[in-house]
Amino acid sequence: MDQDAVLDLFRKSGALLEGHFRLSSGLHSDRYLQSALVLQYPEFATALGRALAERVRHFQPTVVMSPALGGIVIGQEVGHAIGVRAIFAERQDGSLTLRRGFALAPSDRVLVVEDVITTGGSTKETAAVAEAIGAHVIGAAAIIDRSSGTSKLDLPLQTLVRLEVPTWDPESCPLCQKGEAIVKPGSRV
Ligand SMILES: [Zn+2]
Repeated sequence: MDQDAVLDLFRKSGALLEGHFRLSSGLHSDRYLQSALVLQYPEFATALGRALAERVRHFQPTVVMSPALGGIVIGQEVGHAIGVRAIFAERQDGSLTLRRGFALAPSDRVLVVEDVITTGGSTKETAAVAEAIGAHVIGAAAIIDRSSGTSKLDLPLQTLVRLEVPTWDPESCPLCQKGEAIVKPGSRV
């Protein structure tokens, strides 16, 4: 699946909108990305998982590990496509941790999978959880890299799409200056 085919699935499912948006951060953007909306369709989730699996198979992971919640669905699909376990770390008292009896062995080769890499922070935090248990983290993968090259991972990273999602303070938003009506994503139209 090439970059355009991936973005087509996102557009088709409303997971990528173009216009003028007020994000939950208060910043404005001309794009809105919500990957849960593409992953709600099992056939799209499976197709994206298979495409990502092709990019990371050579890392030879023995387990896929994702940060909850955003990474769980795509992590499961990548694990399925490669034929390895898929587990997730979740936040407890502010820190990511493995719960529910999920375990890693020192011989495990962990691939961290997320839906979207923005700062790389949650990928790094997930990798740190695996390393603290003594497992070996061999790489990271995400459907979309929207970090504009600013994420600093010490891991090989594979993604299906690089996407710029510019954000502006309301005072310096070029779309506001053009007088374009603004939408808060998620609100009913
Ligand atoms: Zn604006």
